[in-house]
Amino acid sequence: MKIAVVGTGYVGLVTGTCFAETGNQVTCVDIDVRKVERLQKGEIPIYEPGLDVLFHRNVEEGRLLFTTNLAEGIKDAEVIFLALPTPPGEDGSADLKYILKVADDLGHIMEKYAVVIDKSTVPVGTAEKVHAAIAKNAKVEFDVVSNPEFLREGVAVEDFMKPDRVVVGTTSEKAKKVMEKLYAPLVRQGNPVIFMDERSAEMTKYAANSFLAMKITFMNEIANLCEKVGANVDDIRRGIGTDSRIGKRFLFAGIGYGGSCFPKDVQALAKTSNDFNYDFRILKSVMDVNYDQKKKLLPMLENYFEGSLKDKTIAVWGLAFKPYTDDIREAPALENIEALLQAGAKVTAYDPEAMNNVKGILGDKITFCHTPYAALDDADALMIFTEWPQFRTPEFEKMGKLLKNKVIFDGRNLYELDQMREMGYTYYSIGREKVV
Ligand code: NAD
Repeated sequence: MKIAVVGTGYVGLVTGTCFAETGNQVTCVDIDVRKVERLQKGEIPIYEPGLDVLFHRNVEEGRLLFTTNLAEGIKDAEVIFLALPTPPGEDGSADLKYILKVADDLGHIMEKYAVVIDKSTVPVGTAEKVHAAIAKNAKVEFDVVSNPEFLREGVAVEDFMKPDRVVVGTTSEKAKKVMEKLYAPLVRQGNPVIFMDERSAEMTKYAANSFLAMKITFMNEIANLCEKVGANVDDIRRGIGTDSRIGKRFLFAGIGYGGSCFPKDVQALAKTSNDFNYDFRILKSVMDVNYDQKKKLLPMLENYFEGSLKDKTIAVWGLAFKPYTDDIREAPALENIEALLQAGAKVTAYDPEAMNNVKGILGDKITFCHTPYAALDDADALMIFTEWPQFRTPEFEKMGKLLKNKVIFDGRNLYELDQMREMGYTYYSIGREKVV
C-alpha cells in the first residue's frame, strides 16, 4: 500500500517505520524543516529503543521517505495517517488546531479516494469535525477513520508490531476493508482488530489512559496512607497484584504520572465530561492527587535541611518522565527542579537520554553531568525521579564518598530498606518507612 503519515513525532515516526517494515511504501510529512532534514540524512530525532534498525533498513530499501511538502507526501496515498499533536488548550480540552489545519489542507489537495486515519488522541466527535473540514473543499471521495494509538514510548516498536489489540472506529465498509488489509501483518498471532463506530473508538483511548492514570493514582494514595499507618506499599503491591482481577502492572507507587499522554488525556476527558454536563468525580480526584504527588518529596527534603534549601546542591538522577525514552513532557523531574531552583538550591543532573531535551528548556540553570556519579560530587543530597535500570544497583560506597550527606530521596522506590540501613544511608521513599 502507499501510505502517508502526517506528523513525524513519537507516534508518526514509529507508525511510518513499522508500516514500511511490513512492505508498504511510506512517506512521512512534517512541518518541522530541521526534523525532516535530519530524517532525510538518516538521523533519528528521538530516542526509541529498536527503532534504528527498522528505520535504517527501510530508508536504505527506499520504502521510507520524508518531506515537508504535504501534497507531495500524500500523492497516490491510499491511507493518510494524522499523527499530529493534540496538546491541552487553556480550558484543558485537546487543542485540535493542528489536526483541523491539515484536514483543511487535505480537502484542497486530495486527488483520489483515500482513508484519512486519525491516530492522534482526540475527543469524541473529532472524526466528524475532520470529515467536515476536508469535505468543505474536497473534490474526491474519502473516509475518516478513528484509529487511536496505544503504543508506549520506550517499547513503541514492539507495541506497534505486536499490538494487544487494534481499535478502529468506522462506519464505512470500504474503509473497514482497507484497515483490515493494513493491519493484517501485525495481528497474525490472533490479537483482535476491534471495529466500532468513530465516537466509541475516540472514547476508548481516553478510557484506557484515564483508567491507567487512575490505577497509578490509587496506588499512590495507598502509599501515602501506608506512610501514616506504618505499612509497606511494596508488600501491598505484591499482595494485591497477584489477584488476577487486579493484575501486576501499574501498581508501583511513586511521585506521580507524567508524560505527554496521561496528564493531558485525563484533563481532556474531564473537559469532555464537563461539556456534556457529567460530573466525572474520579477524574477530578486523580488529577488533584497526582498534582500533589509530584511534589511529594520536596517537604521531606526541606525538613531534612531544617527548612532551607538555599545554596544546597541537589543531585538529580533521571529527567525523562519514564525510563527508555528521552521524552520530558510533563516529567515530574522538571517540576521538582524548578521548585529546587526557586528555593535557592543548585542542581546537578544526570539522565542517560533526556539531558539534551532538558538543556533546551533549562539551559545553564542546572549542571548536566556525564555520569550519575559526577552528579553526586559534593552534592548535599540525591533525588531520584526516573527508574532507569542503571540506577537500580549503583555503587553505594562510592556514592557515599561523593555525597556530602548519605541521604537519598527516592521517588521510584528503587532500593530495599534493609540495604539502605546496612549501608548507613538516610533514605526517603514512597509509601515505606523512612530509614534513618
Ligand atoms: P509529537 O509532538 O512527538 O509529534 C507531532 C509531530 O507533528 C511533530 O513532529 C510536529 O512538528 C508535527 N506537526 C505539527 N503540525 C504539523 C503539520 N501541520 N503538518 C505536519 N506535521 C506537523 O507528538 P506525539 O507524541 O507523536 O503524539 C501525536 C499524537 O498521538 C497525540 O495526539 C498524542 O496524544 C497521541 N499519542 C501519543 C503517544 C505517545 O506515547 N507519544 C501514544 C499514543 C498516542
